[in-house]
Amino acid sequence: MHTPLTGSTWDRSEESRKDEAWLSQQWRSDEARAIIVRDGALALTADGALDWRPASDWGGVPTQPWVLVGVDEDSVARFATSAIPEGRKTAHFSGFRELAGIIEVGRGSDLTNLAAALSIMNWHATHGFCANCGSASEQTDAGWLRRCPACGSEHYPRVDPAVIMIVTDGQERALLARQTRWPEKWFSTLAGFVEPGESVEAAVHREVGEEVSIGIDSVRYVASQPWPFPSSLMFGFHAITFEESEPTPDGVEIAEARWFSRDEIKAANEDGSVLLPPRLSISRMLIEHWYGEELPVTWPR
Ligand SMILES: [Zn+2]
Repeated sequence: MHTPLTGSTWDRSEESRKDEAWLSQQWRSDEARAIIVRDGALALTADGALDWRPASDWGGVPTQPWVLVGVDEDSVARFATSAIPEGRKTAHFSGFRELAGIIEVGRGSDLTNLAAALSIMNWHATHGFCANCGSASEQTDAGWLRRCPACGSEHYPRVDPAVIMIVTDGQERALLARQTRWPEKWFSTLAGFVEPGESVEAAVHREVGEEVSIGIDSVRYVASQPWPFPSSLMFGFHAITFEESEPTPDGVEIAEARWFSRDEIKAANEDGSVLLPPRLSISRMLIEHWYGEELPVTWPR
């Protein structure tokens, strides 16, 4: 099953990451393409398309962070960088999530292919110093590794595993919840980060117990999705409970939690009393997977 933001069609070209001569040559070529990615936003052209420019516009390998995202279907190297080419004073930017409402996020789309770039560029922006000795670290391997020149430590990009689960009961009702930081009417599935020393299945049991005090009887894996805001990997599950109890929101993370039958969610979604997460998210996919078809109303971005 393909979740949104999965199914990149570019070759990650791991063997090219260490080939500094090839990388340098690509950064000087007119065929290779690069895009500016800063603060979670992508550069756009004046007419709103992704601003892919010849890599040669940068006049060589940038001194600011960059990454070889991959090599596309036409064997063109694709880079992302926070460096702005000389002579280009202004650029229009749009946030990745805002663009996801406009540009397709399915298999092989440019945004799907760029999801890794967003995560890597976020990582470079926030991990400039060695966690071992505190010295400034340097990017290497075409942006996929940082190395500390003082102590030699190597630092790999972060991926933070998280679980997200639709919980159903013996009557096939689904449990949806509103987080305390969300506006009224926003409902989604439960979710949480995996802790060290914990399996993803154990994390599902723990999170559901902590957030709504429901015990889970079985857990089945459904699909995963990278969520590069900034670096999560969401493991999606269907969790089943045969407890006949009402959820008790913890009041800290979860403000409201309710069981919904399919008829109830349909009615609540149509009259606007329950708004569901955007189609970019695996939570929406899990909800519609349970429901059996698409549901119309999404919360505002
Ligand atoms: Zn160090």
